[in-house]
Amino acid sequence: MSKNATPADRLGAVNAEIAKSCKIARREPTDVTLIAVSKTHPAPRIAPLIAAGQRVFGENRVQEAEGKWPALREETPDVELHLIGQLQSNKAEEAVVLFDCIHSLDRPSLVKALAKAFDKAGRQVPCFVQVNIGDEDQKGGCGIKDLPALLEQARNADIPLAGLMCVPPFGIEPAPYFALMAKLADDHGLANHPLEGRSMGMSGDYPTAIMLGATHIRVGTALFGERG
Ligand SMILES: *Cc1c(COP(=O)(O)O)cnc(C)c1O
Repeated sequence: MSKNATPADRLGAVNAEIAKSCKIARREPTDVTLIAVSKTHPAPRIAPLIAAGQRVFGENRVQEAEGKWPALREETPDVELHLIGQLQSNKAEEAVVLFDCIHSLDRPSLVKALAKAFDKAGRQVPCFVQVNIGDEDQKGGCGIKDLPALLEQARNADIPLAGLMCVPPFGIEPAPYFALMAKLADDHGLANHPLEGRSMGMSGDYPTAIMLGATHIRVGTALFGERG
């Protein structure tokens, strides 16, 4: 995409790529949700994408989202906002009020904080359990070996589970990690569940993720250009 491409051009190109990948994978494009990751981009950069028809957006910081989205949503109430970044337990209440989906449930203390926040807000928000799929020290996400216990805690606390989320290790072939996600979902009874979902794939690898079963792709750079 050229530097002069408009946001609508970029959105069209990404949607065409999604359609192409779905066709190859024999999947329906409506089974893949494009989350436009607008972190670091100010409202005037986001508005044209909304005008072009995009309705699902992702942010990685509660505070940044609180600053940008209430005004944008006033104009377009049917926008859906997803939290894709790490969530501190003390921000759970704010997150539950602002976001429609959380992709970063990764530890027992957050299960507790979210259950409490749902009670207080009188609203439940579907959550993806984030898995540290490459077993990287510095990465967020629950360790693969801790996943069964965390899922059980989440189910016991009546957290509505949306599925699993991952960010594979940077700079190496992601396909084996995307494939591993499917196996984890099967192993832990998330497959064929009405809420089964797989949040995986970013600008550099979303076609591969779609081939391997992604239901939610999180795409920033391919839509907004490089972050400053
Ligand atoms: C920033 C971010 C993305 C989007 O990355 P791009 O490469 O810009 O598409 C996706 N997922 C998470 C968790 C992110 O933090």
